[in-house]
Amino acid sequence: MGLLQDIDTYNLLHYVIYHIQYIVIVFMKCPFCCSEETKVVDKRDNKEDSSIRRRRECLKCSKRFTTYERIEKADLSIEKKDGSLERFDTEKILKGIKKAVDLDKIPEEEIEDFVDEIERYVFNKDEIVRSEEIGLMVLDWLKTKDSLAYIRFASVYKDFKSLDEIVNEIKVIQKI
Ligand SMILES: [Zn+2]
Repeated sequence: MGLLQDIDTYNLLHYVIYHIQYIVIVFMKCPFCCSEETKVVDKRDNKEDSSIRRRRECLKCSKRFTTYERIEKADLSIEKKDGSLERFDTEKILKGIKKAVDLDKIPEEEIEDFVDEIERYVFNKDEIVRSEEIGLMVLDWLKTKDSLAYIRFASVYKDFKSLDEIVNEIKVIQKI
C-alpha cells in the first residue's frame, strides 16, 4: 500500500482547502498585447479592503498597467438556533470575547489564537457546526481563563433571567 492510499482523502481535501484559501494565483496578461510575461514594478497593499495593487510592465511591449489582487477567505457557514444558516464570522467572535474579558489578564494574541482554533474546528468539521457549539467552546475556554468574563459572557449567552441563576453559575465555577 502506497502512502497516498493511507491518507484519508476527505480530510486531506479539507486540509488543502484550509491552507490554500489565502493563496491567490493570478496570471496577469498584458491588456495591450496579451503577453503573459510581465514584471511587477510597484506594489502597494491596501489594508482597507485587503487588496494588493500592483503596477506591472509588459516585457514584450513595455507598456504599463495596474492590477488589483484580492485575497478572500473561503466562506464558512454555521447553523443558528432557529436552523437558519449564518456566515461564520471570526471578527464577531473576537469582538464578543474582547468585550467580555479583562485584556490585562488575557493577552490579545491568546484570544486570537483561540479564535483561530475555532475557525480550524469549523473548517475541518464534516457537518455544519451549530452556533451553540461555538458558544459553548468560548464558555469552556473563558471558564479556565477569566471567571468574571465567563459570567459576563454566560449571562448573555445562557440568557440568565435572575440573579439567582448567576449566583448558581458562580457556585459551579468555584467548584472547578
Ligand atoms: Zn504587452
